[in-house]
Amino acid sequence: MSEVNLKCACGTVKEKTSAVSSKIGTGITCCCDSCQVFAQFLGQEGKVLDQYGGTDMLQIPVSYLTISQGKSEIACVRLSPKGMHRWYAKCCNTPIGNTFGAGGPFIGIIHSFIDKTTKSEVDLGKSRGHILTKFAKTPVPENLKGSSLNFNFRVVAKILS
Ligand SMILES: [Zn+2]
Ligand SMILES: [Zn+2]
Repeated sequence: MSEVNLKCACGTVKEKTSAVSSKIGTGITCCCDSCQVFAQFLGQEGKVLDQYGGTDMLQIPVSYLTISQGKSEIACVRLSPKGMHRWYAKCCNTPIGNTFGAGGPFIGIIHSFIDKTTKSEVDLGKSRGHILTKFAKTPVPENLKGSSLNFNFRVVAKILS
């Protein structure tokens, strides 16, 4: 169990999580077109997207997040009327994460917002793999594919619990 420090590229926005573990946090790589558009919207596709166009993220309950500084620099955009709320640090266009509604209950924290110096110390288990791979820019090898069905069931189970 460990806390994860989060910060934007310029260091204005800082957040941290409560102690998370692989039981609470779920690592996934989302290949959907909307996540790709979000990275492009911020001009960060080179930093955010992997070779398949996937966005690596850590999904945790929103209640585990605390904003330490720079709250006024946090902005939110929706790329379509029913799209996810996509949060970013407007000081330097660092993507923060995605939520299904303004208030959670879960946030997918995008890897570029995770302070890499602390991430290595946190055991978050293995990523569940690439989901929504039909949107990937290049075919995702079978061994990297995660099951979005299982992923959805897990989310529902978490919400109900
Ligand atoms: Zn910043
Ligand atoms: Zn996505």
